[in-house]
Amino acid sequence: MIPRLTAAGPAIIFCCLPIVLSLLPAGGPWGLDAWAKSRALVETLSGLPYVLFPLSVFLAVRMHQVRAAVIALLLFFVYGVFSPADPPLLGFWAVKSSRAQILALALPAGFSMVFVTTRWIQPARLLSLSGFALLALALFPLVVVVGAQKAGFVGWLELQWVVSDARWALSDLSVFFLLLFILVSALQRDRTLREFNAMAAAALVSVLYIFNLVALVKGTAALPPRMILLQGAAFSGAGLGILYAGFRQYWRKAYRDELTALPNRRALDEEVPLLPDRYVWAMVDVDHFKKFNDTYGHDQGDHVLQFVAAQLHKGTGGRAYRYGGEEFSVILPFTTLPQAQALLETVRSRLAAEELTVTAPGKAPEKVRVTVSVGLASHGGRLSGPDEVQRAADQALYEAKRAGRNRVVVYTAQGGP
Ligand code: GH3
Ligand code: MG
Ligand code: MG
Repeated sequence: MIPRLTAAGPAIIFCCLPIVLSLLPAGGPWGLDAWAKSRALVETLSGLPYVLFPLSVFLAVRMHQVRAAVIALLLFFVYGVFSPADPPLLGFWAVKSSRAQILALALPAGFSMVFVTTRWIQPARLLSLSGFALLALALFPLVVVVGAQKAGFVGWLELQWVVSDARWALSDLSVFFLLLFILVSALQRDRTLREFNAMAAAALVSVLYIFNLVALVKGTAALPPRMILLQGAAFSGAGLGILYAGFRQYWRKAYRDELTALPNRRALDEEVPLLPDRYVWAMVDVDHFKKFNDTYGHDQGDHVLQFVAAQLHKGTGGRAYRYGGEEFSVILPFTTLPQAQALLETVRSRLAAEELTVTAPGKAPEKVRVTVSVGLASHGGRLSGPDEVQRAADQALYEAKRAGRNRVVVYTAQGGP
């Protein structure tokens, strides 16, 4: 349930880099002032969000991550409207409150709206009724805040400062929405969304922090280049974070098995050439699984596969893959055959001893045991190519099945081809 911060780590770093940048001493050869003197750098960084956000919207839409796309669109809109260096450009949006005040309320509220509704609105596409509904929800707080202030109807929106000197444009209400967003993120069941939200929270904090800095700049008509640079960096960081989340999702779809969360056959095929000279390959196959499925149903079978996968992942110290169907491979680098045999034997006996509660359709819950057969072969010595090792492990697995199942068999030259 805890947000997977490690998975979102790089994205969070992208988002927080501008904050670190702003905290560095402004002077000196490496200071922000020196960087801000480079027109090329300022222009590049302030232009980058116009490339990154459309790209991240495109990727999110392709990955069917409509919520990520909506957040990217919201940030893109905010950047386009609120970040221009020259205040008169703000036009309609130039209201009494500073942009920092407007955004401190409207952005966390918009983010919260998008994720509070996961149970009710699940758009499959951005260009759909529910997709537009989400987009409208994301923009709604912005329209309300600006609209209410335009109408002079500011009483109930009057921002109560959490910090009295107003160095921070955080009102009670914006803190509420920020906390709401973090809470909703932590409770998110969908792992992808949880990861995305951890990144989005970092983006939110970074963007709000930078707009606060901008609000502190007083008395000048135009924004100093230092601030334009920081704004560009903050939004570029957010854009990169969303792109990263999209690529991670893409990577997971390509290399992870959905059911067991183990790496899949494709991952195995690509990692095999990178293996060290000495390793043991274990082929693991669930015994009489077809009968299990026929008796208890496919859903219960799926649970068993998840259980076996978890045991192989935890129990061997090696890297477990779902090879396909009810077959798994475990690769044990720098391991000798006797060591691997002992490890797999432990996992096998633990699995065989475990009573699983299953419920066949229309029947009372039952306790059953599931067993696996394992074949082992090692690289180095007589077997050199990975294909040869895999075939040998398969051969040993076949022997284990023939000898009665629920056992570990090591490939020997005699039993081999
Ligand atoms: P053996 O002991 O010889 O391995 O017998 P077995 O029944 O396990 O082997 P067989 O290859 O005949 O059957 C494998 C079964 O695994 C058939 C298929 O329904 C089931 N299976 C494959 N993938 C999945 C899956 O993702 N979920 C479920 N529930 N069953 C699966
Ligand atoms: Mg099989
Ligand atoms: Mg089987």
